[in-house]
Amino acid sequence: MTPFIAPGATLGVVGGGQLGRMFAHAAQKSGYRVAVLDPDATSPAGAVADEHLRAGYLDAEALARLAATCAAITTEFENVPAEALRTLGRTRPVAPDAAAVVVCQDRAAEKAAFVRAGVACAPHAVLDGPADLDAVAADLLPGILKTARLGYDGKGQRSVTDRAGLARAFAELGGVACVLEKRLPLMAEISVIVARSVGGEFVALPVQENLHRDGILAVTRVPARAVGPATAAQAVALARRIAEAIGYVGVLCVEFFVLAGDALVANEMAPRPHNSGHYSIDACDLSQFELQVRAMTSAPLVAPRLHSPAVMLNLLGDLWSAGGTGPAIEPPWARVLALPGAHLHLYGKREARPGRKMGHLTLTAANDATAEATARAAAAILGIEGW
Ligand code: ADP
Ligand code: MG
Repeated sequence: MTPFIAPGATLGVVGGGQLGRMFAHAAQKSGYRVAVLDPDATSPAGAVADEHLRAGYLDAEALARLAATCAAITTEFENVPAEALRTLGRTRPVAPDAAAVVVCQDRAAEKAAFVRAGVACAPHAVLDGPADLDAVAADLLPGILKTARLGYDGKGQRSVTDRAGLARAFAELGGVACVLEKRLPLMAEISVIVARSVGGEFVALPVQENLHRDGILAVTRVPARAVGPATAAQAVALARRIAEAIGYVGVLCVEFFVLAGDALVANEMAPRPHNSGHYSIDACDLSQFELQVRAMTSAPLVAPRLHSPAVMLNLLGDLWSAGGTGPAIEPPWARVLALPGAHLHLYGKREARPGRKMGHLTLTAANDATAEATARAAAAILGIEGW
């Protein structure tokens, strides 16, 4: 059993994005110091860290410094070079470890892990090269071709309807290894954030329902309306099976498709806190970032409780242009903040680009209907309604 790492120690995070920033907030709240490794001088997490190592993720000196100063290390982005975690893991507890991250970085490996864990995923084929195209079973079409690695927010994906389109899409994606998935009739999408300790303790946040726009998460609602308690409990049980099958330590998010009859199909997983779990900061008595701190410090994992129904709206860079191309204008925050239960989170990114995640807004309320109504009022003020 790894000993508890007490407050006062320095915790390291590889990656300096918004997830690292919110991790730092959670860690610092409890008296930990935080060191961030990220080459970007203006990174959101670097700006709030006690120490920001501005170096590449494979910079030997920076990794040595991180290992020397930190009692434990975590990561906040999926495509962190596994080698960096492996190097750090030789001298320090690293959660999640390189092996778990490697599985989540590759859609083919990820699906194989789902299958090994006995969890259903979409019918699919792994395409390593053009020679594999002909062998694709006809019933996988129409489907979605996804690059095996480096895809996010709908990037690296093509919808394909027939074999000719599949060959074209494969070439368009650069001929890299891909996974072709059968297009499934989705009734809804849900996700669940779980945490697992070195000793195998397991807790889950409440299951949330997600709405995407242009391949990017737009709205998260919790409790999920699309599924009842039995299906939500099943999602937690499946996520647990996956976490245990890969010996996962840390915070893990598993996304599920909900099909007719409430059948659950695992879509993908993220080896870190997730955008769909941001509501937990304001709506739960223990957030996904606090769970990340607890898991990596071997603190007790206590089951989080949702104290307020919530709706989260992602705030993308498009909001700063208000549909035009002129200079950036600040969205009408004061009007949004006049709404009861509005919690505004902005990540301190200097440049607002379309599709860039700049922040999120969580609306909490005493009941589901009020949270939903307030979220719709906020969305109307910001011009992002439409769900
Ligand atoms: P990303 O890494 O970009 O989040 P996903 O694999 O989660 O990629 O796909 C993005 C979205 O595309 C999903 O949330 C879902 O709405 C849709 N999608 C992906 N795969 C399928 C599928 N097999 N059938 C139907 N819709 C899908
Ligand atoms: Mg996804």
